[in-house]
Amino acid sequence: MKNLIKTVINKQKSFFNSKETFNVDLRIQHLLNLKKEIKNNEKEIELALFKDLGKSEGESYLTEIHFVYSELKIALKNIKKWTKRKSVRSSLLNFPSSDYIIAQPYGNTLHISPWNYPFQLSIAPLIGAIAAGNTVVLKPSEYSEHTTEVLEKIINNVFDEQYVKVIKGGPDVATELLNYNWDYIFFTGSVNVGKIVAKQAALHLTPTTLELGGKNPCVVDESASLKVTAKRIVWGKFINCGQTCIAPDFLIVNKKIKEKLIFEIINQLKLIYGNDPEKSDSYGRIISEKHIKFLSSLIQDQKIIYGGKINEKLRYFEPTLIEIKGFDSKIMEQEIFGPILPIFEYDKFDEVDDIIDKYKNPLALYIFTKNKRLGENFLKKHSFGGGAINDTVVHIINDRLPFGGIGNSGMGKYHGESTFNTFSHFKPYISKPLWIDIPLRYPPFKTKINFLKRVLKLM
Ligand code: NAD
Repeated sequence: MKNLIKTVINKQKSFFNSKETFNVDLRIQHLLNLKKEIKNNEKEIELALFKDLGKSEGESYLTEIHFVYSELKIALKNIKKWTKRKSVRSSLLNFPSSDYIIAQPYGNTLHISPWNYPFQLSIAPLIGAIAAGNTVVLKPSEYSEHTTEVLEKIINNVFDEQYVKVIKGGPDVATELLNYNWDYIFFTGSVNVGKIVAKQAALHLTPTTLELGGKNPCVVDESASLKVTAKRIVWGKFINCGQTCIAPDFLIVNKKIKEKLIFEIINQLKLIYGNDPEKSDSYGRIISEKHIKFLSSLIQDQKIIYGGKINEKLRYFEPTLIEIKGFDSKIMEQEIFGPILPIFEYDKFDEVDDIIDKYKNPLALYIFTKNKRLGENFLKKHSFGGGAINDTVVHIINDRLPFGGIGNSGMGKYHGESTFNTFSHFKPYISKPLWIDIPLRYPPFKTKINFLKRVLKLM
């Protein structure tokens, strides 16, 4: 493995140094080929996602394949515009000058991805990296092995290894990769591993995007329309079996409507997944037995109000609602990342602010309310990655919205143009003629200072 990694990195370094990736037509051609190859392999991708996570065809298309097509579409449509040198107004002190910004690729980039949306979380960053002119080594998760096989096949059919290479393996391989001096690292995964990545990156001062996780609170105030609220919570929480980084982790519900909301949530669960979700085509599976065991441990000694059925061998975990009275249990001290929804009731809204402060900087924050001002103020005053009023998860759909965390939930942002920007250094320069040289900036200043001050005031 060490030799393979070394060879690939050397090849990618030479390739980037050859400046071939500076050719925007080469980037476009590869993105078009990538799109074609994904199209040719749609069925295989869906099957792999089914094997890894029990995802239905509809869910795979909506949350993984279509997502990637839309990133490809926006990149292909805008790449010429994004890569064009931009002129900006020059400064009076520099007169005369022409001032520009050029998007320069970082160079050799390393991408490490997780297992929960193993296709789109591997391909979406790659699209931006290629559009911006970089090379990529992609290390997908060891858990989503079927999707990794298809990813590798697609990448091999589109790119030479000097341009993009999938390197398979677990933490040991990622650790080895992180020993090298990359020009950019894009990591998606847990907070703990994010810290390891950041530490390694710091050794070479490598710029890094960290797309991490956390506990995402979801508040429901007494004015919310309960049917639609329940429907949107159920959708965001139980899609992909709760294994979604921006899924609502737990609910904070006004005590006046708690019982009614729980009733509606159970209703919606039955409508969407039927009385026995194990038999539903639309309900997924937990990624591994290890993860099932962890989730089971979280509901020990908890008050289960709905669900709780588990089949370890089949990696099935029923949508489960639990009632909590405080925040000092194991389930409230870490990200759940599974189909368990703790519900906490509040009396006065001030309590909600304290809870949100306790889970500072979540990746996502949601509030359901008919009181628009309350919703807007709530999202304005708290710090979080991204969020929504009266919905969950859907802010990820709009590629014009940058996606990423803050503090513990990560750093950097991507999607749409933000991905291109992430993988570009915006290089400024100015160009001046030699035929004129205004003496104002040169010492001695004694005779010019008053005039200089007047000029600077004009700016
Ligand atoms: P993880 O951190 O365990 O693994 C992610 C990747 O890091 C994998 O490829 C893995 O092989 C690698 N890795 C594991 N240990 C490593 C180590 N010691 N050194 C270097 N690399 C290592 O995360 P996961 O379990 O695959 O994914 C779940 C986590 O990812 C959750 O916390 C979730 O919230 C987060 N996530 C975040 C986003 C986002 O966009 N912010 C998206 C999806 C998942």
